[in-house]
Order: sequence, then C-alpha cells, then structure tokens
Amino acid sequence: MKNPKEIEFICTRCKTKERIPTEIVEMLDKADQIGVDTLVPPRFDCEKCPGKMEPIYYVGVNGRIYEYKEQQIQS
Ligand SMILES: [Zn+2]
Repeated sequence: MKNPKEIEFICTRCKTKERIPTEIVEMLDKADQIGVDTLVPPRFDCEKCPGKMEPIYYVGVNGRIYEYKEQQIQS
C-alpha cells in the first residue's frame, strides 16, 4: 500500500488535525531510522499546544504501518 501525497496528522493532546506533505514525513522517517525505536511514528510538534502530532495512517519507509488510535480511558 502506498501513501497519499499528504499525511493527516492529529495532535494527541488537543486533537488538532493537520496535513503534512508525505515527502517531508518520509524525510523525517528516514532520518529517524538510526538508533531510534521505530515503533514510534514520525512526530511533529503541535503549533497550538505543547503536544505532539502523530500520523492517523502512515506507511513508514521501512514498510511499517502506523495507525493512530485514541487512548482507551480505563474506567
Ligand atoms: Zn495540540
């Protein structure tokens, strides 16, 4: 499966959504491959809060699929 031209990111804190060009995400992804835990998707700083933005759906350069899931609130 291939990525679209833009990847939709969501802030895990304030839920702001933003589209980021796939080439930028992949560039960051490749740069992250050395000595970094690849279980963590490429992330960006949120412009609206101190949170981090994660891809909602993104196929990594190493073939790994990252999917954002809402944190389950334990009751
Ligand atoms: Zn935010």
